[in-house]
Amino acid sequence: MKTIGVVINTPENERQFNINRDYLEAVERAGALPLMIPITADAAEQAAAIDAVDGLLLTGGADVDPASYGEQTQPFCGRIVPERDACEIVLCRLALAQDKPVLAVCRGHQIFNVALGGTLYQDIAAQYGTELTHPVNDRPAEPVHEVRTEEGSTLRRITGMATLRVNSRHHQAVKDLGKGLAVNARATDGLIEGIELPGKRFAVGVQWHPESLASCRPEAQAIFSAFVAAC
Ligand code: MN
Repeated sequence: MKTIGVVINTPENERQFNINRDYLEAVERAGALPLMIPITADAAEQAAAIDAVDGLLLTGGADVDPASYGEQTQPFCGRIVPERDACEIVLCRLALAQDKPVLAVCRGHQIFNVALGGTLYQDIAAQYGTELTHPVNDRPAEPVHEVRTEEGSTLRRITGMATLRVNSRHHQAVKDLGKGLAVNARATDGLIEGIELPGKRFAVGVQWHPESLASCRPEAQAIFSAFVAAC
């Protein structure tokens, strides 16, 4: 059975780790075993973690530290967990260097971009003009806006759909793309909602939360199934 590494999250109480079970269940439905990786700054542990898994899933959570993409923190940036950023950026680069599949969701999609030198909007409402509301956190499993997938992208091939209705639980987003990345989906306001790294077995980021939709929407589960199949 294939194994998928999942970095576990830090809630406000930093003596605990937690993980939304939707991620684990989506991986399990795809036929793989999720393995929890604690946040670590130890390079040997980081290398061992990537050695131990067939693929890496980067999940949602707090905002990414703007220092990691060379910007000053603005007042509208939210809570950050720099130790998690540092760990996940290394794990993401290690996985890509070994061409192990990477699926990156929401904050994970932002980490994926930053790991390759990209930048983020620290707050969409403050820095990107749009009539859409992207932080709809009180309706986690409800599709609230549309994204258009790019023709020829891995995401289009996986889902088989030119437009997807998606949930939206983010106030930050990809600004400048990291090295080698291609956009695979945009919201109807033009905001980047998906990225991928061509030439890899599987390296896909999505700004929405397919794990919350995957139990009832086949195109959402298909993202996890294609990820595990690539492993
Ligand atoms: Mn959105």
